[in-house]
Amino acid sequence: MKVIVLGSSHGGYDAVRQILSDAPDTEIQWYEKGDFISFLSCGMQLYLEGVVKHVNDVSYAKPDQMHKAGVDVFVKQEISAIDPANHSVHVLNHNDGTERDEHYDKLIISPGANPASLGVKGEDLQNIYKMRGRDWAIKLKEKTVDPTVKNVAVIGSGYIGIEAAEVFAKAGMHVSIIEFNERLLGAYLDQEFTDTLTKVMKDHNVDFYGNQGVSEYRGENGKVTTAITSKGNEIPADLVVEAAGIRPNTEWLNGVVDLDDHGFIKNNEYMQTSESDIYAVGDATLVPFAPTGEKSVIALATNARREGRTAAMNALGQEHAMVPVSGSSALSVFDYKFASTGIKEGTASRFDVKTQSTTVTDTFRPPFVPDKAGNDEVLFKLTYNPETQVILGGQVMSTQDSTQNMNVISLAIQAHMKVEDLAYADFFFQPGFDRPWNIMNVAAQQALKDLK
Ligand code: FAD
Repeated sequence: MKVIVLGSSHGGYDAVRQILSDAPDTEIQWYEKGDFISFLSCGMQLYLEGVVKHVNDVSYAKPDQMHKAGVDVFVKQEISAIDPANHSVHVLNHNDGTERDEHYDKLIISPGANPASLGVKGEDLQNIYKMRGRDWAIKLKEKTVDPTVKNVAVIGSGYIGIEAAEVFAKAGMHVSIIEFNERLLGAYLDQEFTDTLTKVMKDHNVDFYGNQGVSEYRGENGKVTTAITSKGNEIPADLVVEAAGIRPNTEWLNGVVDLDDHGFIKNNEYMQTSESDIYAVGDATLVPFAPTGEKSVIALATNARREGRTAAMNALGQEHAMVPVSGSSALSVFDYKFASTGIKEGTASRFDVKTQSTTVTDTFRPPFVPDKAGNDEVLFKLTYNPETQVILGGQVMSTQDSTQNMNVISLAIQAHMKVEDLAYADFFFQPGFDRPWNIMNVAAQQALKDLK
């Protein structure tokens, strides 16, 4: 059997790995239109801050390794068209300008997404950047050491915008974040968390302009100097990083497979598109959202990887449905580390489900452990359905690393657990790591009282 995999980022990579693991005799052709395979934007902040020294190290796979494993890797070769009736793809080889058709038995596509263009006046000025992929990583890195950059404006305060803000603040620049919503990280955390983070950002020379979008860029000598907001604020900006959402890279698939109104590829739980031998995964698709069972847009590498593996298993004839996910994610903002999963009070209105939440604070380890030994407070919020007690989401934040708790809450959501299941659930205790009652027990026990 011949399987063609399109895209060398998270979705494509895991599809290839799964085929190699389960059916190594499969003929695998792996296509990447860029000049580098498997660049991981997730590692971009580590590269920009100098933790990872070389941009090419921010990767999982090298072409020669994959060749040795038996994969035909085609770099700078773009699949420009698909002919489902003939089971063939048209390939543009950007290395030498040639074109050809290739036959497939099964095709797995992970075309990903592109950063959204905001379409505001002045967007063609120089030094207006995006933050996704290796090319932008290289350009952004140059700006972290550019002495002419004193002020940076970041558009959007999702996790990508926050990563950009932290990178440039740590590089000694003044940063302004412009955000449509009232609060930063509003899709990830509720107000009791974001109030602290907004202050932490301010303490590190990052100003937050909420409830406003960017309406215009102005510049001098062709370079941006100012971002004007919809509230009329004039934000100084020698560099702008636009991180205000993504668009699925699917325009070229119109008429090939079914797309939804926003251009996301429609797929079933086996990742099959409207063409049964074409599987679609990653940011160009929706994922099953565990708290509601509905499909949702959650652009995360974790989801792309699970979908990639699911697609590969089904392409090989093993029936395997995609596991519902909860959008679990974690991030650090200077000294603070936070994670969240599932539904928050701030996002609940998007879903047709009743919510109630219980928030608790506790020390990370037993009270007798001195602060200096690593015993700061942990803020934890549990969200559940007050009628059924079913757990819907969680959020946690501390200067200690308590983020792994969100993986447990994610599992609880996936297993449709109730508050009472979590209240006395078995978690370890050792004073070097935890308290006799883990903060998840504490929150669930309080929630039981709140529910009475
Ligand atoms: P993409 O990563 O978009 O890759 C698609 C690939 O397909 C590209 O290489 C593209 O060149 C190639 N391609 C497209 N069309 C064609 C074609 N026609 N022919 C050949 N090749 C083609 N997620 C997390 O879970 N954790 C994180 O910490 C995290 N951090 C992030 C930080 C940043 C700055 C960014 C931008 C994203 C981050 N993400 C994170 C999200 C994660 O990177 C994406 O969810 C993930 O990359 C999606 O993978 P994908 O395979 O769908 O597509």
